[in-house]
Amino acid sequence: MQALKDIIRDIHDFPKKGIIFKDITTLLQDAKSYQRTIDLLSHRYVGQHIDKVVGVEARGFIIGSALAYKLGAGIVMVRKPGKLPSETFSKTYDLEYGTDTLEIHTDAIKPGEKILIADDLLATGGTMCAVVDMVQNLGGEIVECCFMAELEFLNGRAKLPEGKVFSLLSF
Ligand code: 5GP
Repeated sequence: MQALKDIIRDIHDFPKKGIIFKDITTLLQDAKSYQRTIDLLSHRYVGQHIDKVVGVEARGFIIGSALAYKLGAGIVMVRKPGKLPSETFSKTYDLEYGTDTLEIHTDAIKPGEKILIADDLLATGGTMCAVVDMVQNLGGEIVECCFMAELEFLNGRAKLPEGKVFSLLSF
């Protein structure tokens, strides 16, 4: 696990001054590390019934679609506004400065379907909290919210359903 953590690099002052951004591209572009990450994450859910994996734009697609393939589940995209072609349900949520909006197709999830939500990184939890709300609004049952990595000191998991958060790597 330490080897996977070590390959993620810190980018200082991105996207703005004072922020240290965890750049996961260095892990993704290393074949063995990407494969190990997906193997470890998917292993947790093998044998559980999962209808769909919901991936959060954009890095969540890279984790989510690989997991969906491994688990034999469908993949659903949560996207930035204006990208999805059919009828959408949208959710606006607070950021440190301002707000952001995400969208999902209204017919992407049927009531009672078992849903695994995937993103690359859990920081404050605002993004995943919005996605949880969207999935629940469409009637999906959340199996877990899973992440490649978590910034533990921000305690984002406090915003998410208790006992339904898993991250492979903690910083
Ligand atoms: P949150 O809403 O939990 O504060 O932020 C999580 C979202 O922002 C995720 O979709 C994630 O992709 C992105 N994000 C925030 N900080 C970082 C970071 O340091 N590294 C990466 N890779 N993504 C981040």
